Amino acid sequence: MTRVFNFSAGPAMLPQSVLEQAQAEMLDWNGSGMSVMEMSHRGKEYMSIAAQAEADLREIMGIPSNYKVLFLQGGASSQFAMIPQNLLRGKTTADYVDTGDWSAKAIKEAKRYCSVSVVASTKEGNYTSVPAFDTWKCNADAAYLHYTPNETIRGVEFAWVPETGDVPLVADMSSTILSRPLDVSKYGLIYAGAQKNIGPAGLTIVIVREDLIGETVAGTPTMFDYKIHADNESMYNTPPTYAWYLSGLVFQWIKAQGGLAGMAVLNERKAQKLYAAIENSGGFYNSPVDADCRSWMNVPFTLANADLDKPFLAEAGKVGLTTLKGHRSVGGMRASIYNAMPEAGVDALVSFMQDFAQKNG
Ligand SMILES: *Cc1c(COP(=O)(O)O)cnc(C)c1O
Repeated sequence: MTRVFNFSAGPAMLPQSVLEQAQAEMLDWNGSGMSVMEMSHRGKEYMSIAAQAEADLREIMGIPSNYKVLFLQGGASSQFAMIPQNLLRGKTTADYVDTGDWSAKAIKEAKRYCSVSVVASTKEGNYTSVPAFDTWKCNADAAYLHYTPNETIRGVEFAWVPETGDVPLVADMSSTILSRPLDVSKYGLIYAGAQKNIGPAGLTIVIVREDLIGETVAGTPTMFDYKIHADNESMYNTPPTYAWYLSGLVFQWIKAQGGLAGMAVLNERKAQKLYAAIENSGGFYNSPVDADCRSWMNVPFTLANADLDKPFLAEAGKVGLTTLKGHRSVGGMRASIYNAMPEAGVDALVSFMQDFAQKNG
């Protein structure tokens, strides 16, 4: 068996020990005589798996007790609608920060439900920076402020948390959740599709302060009502049981790595190694992103000579470094180095990049 270092932006790598445990438990989970996939979500075995996963997530993120943790389907993209449907609470405007492709999608969807005020945008600069907070035109009567702490496509990450006072802060953390410690109490709502830094695709996690839910926009489907899911412990209907289980194994793995503080040390080191390789290449490789907001998770870079893109990808593939092609809207390369990317994977990429530059420079 040969496993590659897979730099995919999502679905992405999972820790090998997690996959091995899932494999060992595949046919018979804990003496139950069945696979987790075959269990009733209301049976005692599955209920214990679900509860343990939530408890572990609460522990590693330090989620206060007045927050609900929801295990949903529909991807982060469904949240673009569910957020205004649930959080407008009689208000008619919401603030959005536009720092990239995912922000823009969230804005487009929210416009179906309310008047969106874009309080800051970096679109003119091609989404390569984070707008300074003192330039934001926030509205005191906004229902909430939405931002994207890590823009997965262009690799732009906030190194700070906006202070929005009484206006609830809403964050699309799809590609940065669990990468470093955070103070959940600063947020009204955090959401993330699982397939980047949590577990398999099919699960979406929403962490929401409980006083913000229970009042939806007229016509909101039952399945889009956070309160329904909260009151039913995410079992109003059949949840994505296997993805929830596997995510639970990832939470235990994170605990064993020293929790989010441990992940942060590793993630920062991995990112620094890769950015250093780009910076020290004498212009052979370049980062399009401002130095103060380069993502720890998604590292886009270009080759000065784009004719070398194809050979770069082909030769990287031959040595087991895969899915390095940049997003179709950006071009160049992108290395996604989420929690489960081992440091050895980054080391292998760095040494490949140095060799390639030497041969082709
Ligand atoms: C991947 C991603 C999404 C979309 O997630 P889906 O689960 O595919 O809907 C949204 N926002 C961010 C920041 C992402 O990285």
